Amino acid sequence: MGLLLVHSQEAPTHEFIRLLIVECCPTPLQWLCEVAGYWPVLEHCHTTRSRASQICSMSDILVIQYQTVRYDTLPLSPISRNRLNAVKRKILVLDLDETLIHSHHDGVLRPTVRPGTPPDFILKVVIDKHPVRFFVHKRPHVDFFLEVVSQWYELVVFTASMEIYGSAVADKLDNNRNILKRRYYRQHCTLDLGSYIKDLSVVHDDLSSIVILDNSPGAYRSHPDNAIPIKSWFSDPSDTALLNLLPMLDALRFTADVRSVLSRNLHQHRLW
Ligand SMILES: [Mg+2]
Repeated sequence: MGLLLVHSQEAPTHEFIRLLIVECCPTPLQWLCEVAGYWPVLEHCHTTRSRASQICSMSDILVIQYQTVRYDTLPLSPISRNRLNAVKRKILVLDLDETLIHSHHDGVLRPTVRPGTPPDFILKVVIDKHPVRFFVHKRPHVDFFLEVVSQWYELVVFTASMEIYGSAVADKLDNNRNILKRRYYRQHCTLDLGSYIKDLSVVHDDLSSIVILDNSPGAYRSHPDNAIPIKSWFSDPSDTALLNLLPMLDALRFTADVRSVLSRNLHQHRLW
């Protein structure tokens, strides 16, 4: 994974970027940079330097450094530990389908995964008195992602799927680690014009400390400033979207109010 540092003419304004640099760079002072916005950093943190330069030139920002970053759960510096103690522990709400996994069930004529690709697990559930088999494929890096972010956040599953299916998927992803204990399902969603909306106040009444990761913008229509968009995943084995989010999630837990960062995410508004 690469960390892209960029430079712009604007004054440095964002605590997010400063934290990102402090946490990820061994020598922050040498890497001092100013940024116009954070999304280009995240979107292309897995890119090559030349590609990053090309992208940044379109955004009127300049690449000054590029480095491979590993997330080996290093101990925090005393400064970062103090900062983390001064803010509330955050909640990360996770969608399941097309965010962490993709599944299809018996009888689907055109499964979206390549024929012959074995599922990571098969679930047998009874729906309306009929046994149904779900063939579930895990998004690349999902196990590592959950292992890492569970150390930073309280994790909550919130799916618009039926409980009998969603709970079985969550059990498999949890894998006896006890990291996906709180779960919300279709019955906890609000139905609006035929689509399911996830009301985050059901999960927690303090919106300053809750984040939702969901491939469907409609799901977080009520709380766009708490949302992290992610591309829908169906079958691409080279997908790195979950890995690419780690720098941002690592930094976001230090903020006093997650909306101070996520409300700047102009990228998500273009999805509407
Ligand atoms: Mg989804």
